[in-house]
Amino acid sequence: MDKLAIVVPCYNEEEVLQLASKTLRDVLDLLIEKGKIAADSFILFVNDGSKDRTWELIEKEHAQYAQVRGLKLAGNVGHQNALTAGLLTAMDMCDVTVSIDADLQDDVNVIEEMVDKFHEGKDIVYGVRSSRKKDSFFKRSTAQGFYRFMSLMGVKTIYNHADFRLMSRRAVEQFSRYEESNLFLRGMVPLIGYETDSVYYERRERAAGESKYPFKKMLALALNGITSFSIKPIGLITTLGFLIVIGSVAAAVYALISYFTENAVPGWTSLILSIWFIGGVQLLAIGLVGQYIGKIYMEVKHRPRYNIEKIL
Ligand code: UDP
Ligand code: MG
Repeated sequence: MDKLAIVVPCYNEEEVLQLASKTLRDVLDLLIEKGKIAADSFILFVNDGSKDRTWELIEKEHAQYAQVRGLKLAGNVGHQNALTAGLLTAMDMCDVTVSIDADLQDDVNVIEEMVDKFHEGKDIVYGVRSSRKKDSFFKRSTAQGFYRFMSLMGVKTIYNHADFRLMSRRAVEQFSRYEESNLFLRGMVPLIGYETDSVYYERRERAAGESKYPFKKMLALALNGITSFSIKPIGLITTLGFLIVIGSVAAAVYALISYFTENAVPGWTSLILSIWFIGGVQLLAIGLVGQYIGKIYMEVKHRPRYNIEKIL
């Protein structure tokens, strides 16, 4: 029987922790009863340096219920790092993991469907939001813009999927070999390459407490997602510099011609053109240097060059 670990990153979640624990224990009980997972399956709460009573509550839950385990991180390292810590810790203790936020916005009832797909042989199952009706107009449009922009930058992500997903033990093991320090799990998991599937659900409001992702953190996550996965922006700068240089040379030719046809403004053209030209050359140069930095950057990550699917 497969042992399931539900990994839950928590940052200042005292208001919702006990409810989350109860809800997830019920899910485990149901799946154990149906014979879909092993009886010693568990929930791993990862305390991401909370400043409130979150850790005390995790300790209390652990003392009371054998199914609850806890991982305490030293200081706040952010959602992505906390989730990774949880997954890598759970990896050695289970056969399959499900990651979910503490706030119960994601529908716990589709975990069963995820486990079913795992039994059908899928290594990664994405939880995908079927709609964003509950989101504010602002959140919805920025999120959609973000996914579009990511694909424009050549980063493969699953549309409307956050960090609610099932990963088999071997998928997590492969993931552990991605040693980069700027984590963006949504972009990294599709690189693992094992067979995937999706389940769909309606996302709810937070069960309690408020969002730990203010606009600033959201923007940081988006920027990190792009710059950790693509060096296209550097190429765009180079192209821009190149176009400006071409443009200013063309304008210089035009200025020369109009000089001889007598309707030119004296002085202005040469001044503005030299500014354009120097600006273009600078951008081109920065872009060129950037290309090299981009290369070094991609190298320094030490990403694995391949993933082994099977060994006989
Ligand atoms: N979280 C975390 N560390 C942080 C910020 C958030 O572990 O620095 C956790 C948080 O406790 C929650 C999950 O990440 O379980 C997602 O955060 P939240 O629900 O606040 O984000 P939103 O759904 O509003 O985007
Ligand atoms: Mg949330």
